[in-house]
Amino acid sequence: MKALFGGSFNPVHNGHLILARDVVEDFGFEKLFFVPAKVQPLKGKLLIPPEVRLSALRAAVSLYPRFDVWDFELKSEGVSYTYRTLEHFHRLYGERPAFVLGADSFASLPRWKEPQRVLELARLVVMARPGYSPDFEEVFRQLGLCPKFIIVEKEGVELPQEWDVALYRGRLLDISATEIRRRLLEGDSISYFVPEQVEKILRRWRDGLQQNV
Ligand code: ATP
Repeated sequence: MKALFGGSFNPVHNGHLILARDVVEDFGFEKLFFVPAKVQPLKGKLLIPPEVRLSALRAAVSLYPRFDVWDFELKSEGVSYTYRTLEHFHRLYGERPAFVLGADSFASLPRWKEPQRVLELARLVVMARPGYSPDFEEVFRQLGLCPKFIIVEKEGVELPQEWDVALYRGRLLDISATEIRRRLLEGDSISYFVPEQVEKILRRWRDGLQQNV
């Protein structure tokens, strides 16, 4: 089975990378595609340009053969919705992949566009994240769905043949892109939060920003 990992990756960090590799290994996925979103610049939130986010992701995925980047949303016109990305994936590969997301994103699923279609087109792997414990039953109730829900602990669980939503109780990593952006802009080191090559790409982008001020 293939997996997609959607997010703004603003920027990609070791939290994403370590957890995505754990998921690939523990669920036995053949490939995991990072799918960077086209994010609108939000007020008060710095958006790293798409080409910088993409080259950071490309550098990061080169370190693990079962990772790849799919830039479908960045190349599409208009707003990208996950269900549309999954429809396109289905046209390309004819399969129902796993869609990987953090517990914070899962809690907002009822507010996504066509959330029922998302679940029809993909299984969800919800990664535990410090500070977030979504009420799964409540989310399913709001969606009017009764998916096959499983809990997967790190390593060694036999997955059932059929499942729709998995809570993945793997490592808890308290790393966020928000903190990395803050450190970057305040001139603090981002070493150890991101791979070395990603750090170089981000530092080059930040230095360019500062020269233009
Ligand atoms: P920001 O701080 O800008 O909100 P982020 O660190 O949450 O960013 P995103 O690009 O929004 O990064 O994350 C992509 C996906 O990865 C989301 O589904 C998010 O919930 C999940 N994710 C990010 N960091 C973690 C983490 N440390 N643990 C678990 N899930 C995470």
